[in-house]
Amino acid sequence: MAHYEFDLLVAGAGPAGCTLALHLAAKGFRIGIIEKDIFPRQKICGDALSGKVLNVMKRIPGGVYEDFIANVEKIPSWGIRFIAPNHREIDVPFILHRTGEQPPPGYVCNRDDFDNFMFGKLSDYPNVQVFQGERVDKVVTHTDHVFARTQNHEFRGKIIAGADGVHSTVRKFLKGERVDKKHFCIGIRGYYENVTGLHPENYIELIFLKRLLPGYFWIFPSTGGRVNAGLGIMQDRISNRRENLSHLLDDIIANDPLVAPRFAHARLIGKPGAHVLPLGTYKFNRSGNRFILLGDAGFLVDPFSGEGIGNAMASGEIAAGILEKNFSENDFSASALATFDARLQRRFSQEFRTMSALQRLAGSEKLFNLVVGKARKNKEIAELLSAMFTSEKERNKLSQPGFYMRLLFK
Ligand SMILES: Cc1cc2nc3c(=O)[nH]c(=O)nc-3n(C[C@H](O)[C@H](O)[C@H](O)COP(=O)(O)OP(=O)(O)OC[C@H]3O[C@@H](n4cnc5c(N)ncnc54)[C@H](O)[C@@H]3O)c2cc1C
Repeated sequence: MAHYEFDLLVAGAGPAGCTLALHLAAKGFRIGIIEKDIFPRQKICGDALSGKVLNVMKRIPGGVYEDFIANVEKIPSWGIRFIAPNHREIDVPFILHRTGEQPPPGYVCNRDDFDNFMFGKLSDYPNVQVFQGERVDKVVTHTDHVFARTQNHEFRGKIIAGADGVHSTVRKFLKGERVDKKHFCIGIRGYYENVTGLHPENYIELIFLKRLLPGYFWIFPSTGGRVNAGLGIMQDRISNRRENLSHLLDDIIANDPLVAPRFAHARLIGKPGAHVLPLGTYKFNRSGNRFILLGDAGFLVDPFSGEGIGNAMASGEIAAGILEKNFSENDFSASALATFDARLQRRFSQEFRTMSALQRLAGSEKLFNLVVGKARKNKEIAELLSAMFTSEKERNKLSQPGFYMRLLFK
């Protein structure tokens, strides 16, 4: 069995792993990135790229953002349409006061293409070696190195980044704890042609159906005249009801009074695919002796919207920011890497509190109907909803208990 040695081992070449690797590759570190699939690989996702993704991408060295804007197929999206359980809807633009040449605030981009683009960028760096089609199946930390193994190779590194998704092997070996079902959502999506009633500016649609709350059904306009449509539901709800996910999707598309007419002439392309989302409601240490956990491996998905790409990339960027110091001091102890947790905490704790509050709100049909009803009539609330997606300061108001009381009397 061949042996390799690197400064940094990265398990998983999704958005989190690639963001970390690209930042540190530009600084000259020797990186071994180990990925179980072979790119271009399929990735089950809603395909919505928020402003957060674009902002993190702009800071990756090597003109990654500019290349993405110029060369990757995608469509711009300018806002969100919310549909409450009582079928009342509100359109919320991402940018309230648009000026002529403003770039789009978000995109919908097939994840297979997006991830393949990011993965391709690794080949710009001779100091990055990629091992595709190899699953990390064992990880052990020692006093002076970390060891990882695949079926073909053995690896030594100073540190390992677990960016290997929701079922992370790195997390299982180095943390091991079981996580309660309430911290997981499960989603299923398919691609469809000939869906009607789409917003002219490609607003992404979140349809809060009573049977899915606090989850929702989504319709995201995609490239080639298709839509990415699917649903997300809390995992404890689906197993309690023993409902089969793809039957649930088919049933909504065929019979829901709001959804079905829009799919009357739709054609499913390929097969729907399902996957699990690990929510940021689960609080734990995402670092320890010679390891850190990024993205889905570290439960960083927004508990309300299900957005995870931006947070995964942000965690890769944060890790790159702190690891340089660990390399220069050759200290990868749990206490030295605790800075990573502290930075994540600073970046995400308020946001997750807010989004958990919204998740709870969305669980109450009446309260959700009320907020959308008020927002339809009150410009200030509508503007706040818009700011939620663009301004952290405004969004944080939603986690203050008094906010909902004030809302009732507006
Ligand atoms: C149905 C659904 C819809 C979603 N919609 C959206 C959306 O519209 N917008 C959004 O922002 N987010 C969305 N998300 C969440 C988003 O997909 C994830 O949060 C995001 O992919 C996390 O990125 P990551 O790099 O942490 O993990 P991943 O993208 O999962 O990448 C992990 C990589 O690790 C590899 N890997 C796994 N195990 C091993 C191993 N043992 N050894 C080596 N490699 C391994 C995998 O093959 C994979 O390439 C959705 C998720 C689901 C399930």
